[in-house]
Amino acid sequence: MAMNTHGLTDDQKDIRALAARFADEVVAPQAMQWDREHRFPKEVVQQLGELGLMGVCIPQALGGAGADYLTYVLVIEELSRGDAGLGVTLAVHTGAGTLPVIARGTRQQIERIVPPLAQGHELAAFALTESNAGSDASALATRSDNGNLTGTKQWVTNGSVAHSFIVFAKDPDRPSAFVVRRGAHGFKPVRETDKLGLNSSSTADLQFDETPAERLGLPGAGLRIALATLDGGRIGIAAQATGIAQAALDLAVKHAKERRTFGKPIGAHQAIQQKLADMQTEIEAARALTWRAARLKDADRPHTVEGAQAKLFASAVARRVTGEAIQVLGGYGYTRELPAERYYRDAKVTEIYEGTSEIQRLVIARALLGEAARE
Ligand SMILES: Cc1cc2nc3c(=O)[nH]c(=O)nc-3n(C[C@H](O)[C@H](O)[C@H](O)COP(=O)(O)OP(=O)(O)OC[C@H]3O[C@@H](n4cnc5c(N)ncnc54)[C@H](O)[C@@H]3O)c2cc1C
Repeated sequence: MAMNTHGLTDDQKDIRALAARFADEVVAPQAMQWDREHRFPKEVVQQLGELGLMGVCIPQALGGAGADYLTYVLVIEELSRGDAGLGVTLAVHTGAGTLPVIARGTRQQIERIVPPLAQGHELAAFALTESNAGSDASALATRSDNGNLTGTKQWVTNGSVAHSFIVFAKDPDRPSAFVVRRGAHGFKPVRETDKLGLNSSSTADLQFDETPAERLGLPGAGLRIALATLDGGRIGIAAQATGIAQAALDLAVKHAKERRTFGKPIGAHQAIQQKLADMQTEIEAARALTWRAARLKDADRPHTVEGAQAKLFASAVARRVTGEAIQVLGGYGYTRELPAERYYRDAKVTEIYEGTSEIQRLVIARALLGEAARE
């Protein structure tokens, strides 16, 4: 487990320790099997619900644990250290599928939709991407005809397992956000995507054919809702990336103490020491950026740029550190006997989803340059 507890409150430390213990005792020992079998660990998600971890930052009045965003981010990091697929399941469920309902829903929608999600009885998803609308979310083709949705969404995390979906559709010209229930007329997950990693998470295409949906927020506010959701969601993905990197470092350190070459542990070779020192330093920097963004969000301060910086940096750290971990493990790192190769595969996607690294740089540069960046 990561040692850094700078500035955490006792409550934050306690919930982090709970998540860390669960990750070490329940998640990590099974993660390799889930990855091989491409299995979504439904029973573990249910256990997370019982521990109050499916609604960490949801108010207690709505069935959540009532903790702050930083605490939620700590939980994502710890769970991702055990299994990154489980980390993204939680991150999308809470950050992308539940919080926008609280932020934009009517009182009636909030009281009806949120409690089963916060308690982990139901799962949530967020469906923005389409085959021709990824980074350019405004290009979406799914349309609403008086609240009936028709179109196809792509690569929706929790797509095959969720009960509540936030779906974005043209309404009629500008996107609005909608909520669709599993089992609604004309709605079905049509394909699970075969991926490089994150094999314990569901990533599905969804089809809507005149599916009745209820609007979330104002008509035409869809893009604003999506972007605000991603502002917070990116902090969660930065935490996921940090967790994957930490797992890779922990494995590399263990191996460096045990593996011997030329009569000594490989950790006695300075080349290996240098690698491990760089890996740890980069992870601490990623964590610090992530916590900074989460703390700004908790203080209701702007956090768009800080969240983009955290995700940009942490995802690159995850890619580098997982690659270096394989290097420290040598041939063992390249085999499926140890989890280093899974960390490497899982890390890559953190540079892609919830906005690619190129898009994070655009966000940061636009804030630096203002109007000059748009000419
Ligand atoms: C495992 C997984 C889970 C996902 N989960 C979800 C989910 O739950 N909900 C959801 O809605 N989506 C989800 N996505 C989709 C994800 O958010 C998109 O893949 C991502 O936004 C990038 O879009 P794209 O793949 O269409 O790439 P494109 O937009 O086609 O980009 C291709 C390349 O061009 C670059 N590029 C594009 N535009 C610019 C530009 N203006 N300037 C510079 N470079 C640019 C990109 O950075 C990238 O390198 C998921 C994807 C994956 C792989």
